[in-house]
Formats: sequence, C-alpha cells, structure tokens
Amino acid sequence: MHTKKNNLQKFTGYIEKGRFVLPYCKTCRKTIWPPTNNCRICLNNLTLKNYKNKQGKILEYFLDKFNNNLANNIMVLVELDEIILIGSLHQDNINSRNIQGKKVRIKKCGFIDKKIFYQFEIVNN
Ligand SMILES: [Zn+2]
Repeated sequence: MHTKKNNLQKFTGYIEKGRFVLPYCKTCRKTIWPPTNNCRICLNNLTLKNYKNKQGKILEYFLDKFNNNLANNIMVLVELDEIILIGSLHQDNINSRNIQGKKVRIKKCGFIDKKIFYQFEIVNN
C-alpha cells in the first residue's frame, strides 16, 4: 500500500514535535499557505522549511480574557514572510508598552486540544 505522507501530514508531524516549519516554494521563493503538496502559484512541489530563527512582525495584539493562563494571555497576529499566523506572546522580554510592529520569532509550537498553537517571543536587538 502506498503510504507516502503528504505535506499537510508532514507539517502536522513537525508541529507535534515542536518543530516550526512552513511550506516553501523554491521556484517562487515564497512561503505558501496552507500546507499542500504543490505551490498554488506555479504548481511545483513544496518543501517544508525550518523557520525556527525566522523573524516576523506583530501586526496586532490583544488580551485573551478567556485564557486563564496569565503567561499566555497576550495574543498576537504575526506577519512572517507574507503569511499571517495567530499565536500567544511569551512575556518575559517585553520592554515596551506598545508592541505593535515589534520583531518576533517562534518560541514554542505544538498541539493543545487538537489545535495547533504558536508561541512567539519578541526579539530585542
Ligand atoms: Zn511556486
């Protein structure tokens, strides 16, 4: 039986292990979302690229009043290579009140209640 994993299965497998990858098209040199086997622009095969140290930017942020975990209750909308992800923000290294536009990178990712979560941290240069 043919059991080769598709990109979506590989993607969720990486995320489950805490490895932050995103689908990337080498031909278009672009991050492509959502994870599929082929690029929606040129139809070539996508690869999963490690984005552990890739920096994104906070577009918006808000407090998640329904999240009882105080360490995780700032939610951020992050633009990273033209794709937008929603995640929480690690709060240990915030040194300014206005965090809009701040550079972030991934700190943790994985699954909680069968949903993918991303936790970002601010990159203070
Ligand atoms: Zn492409």
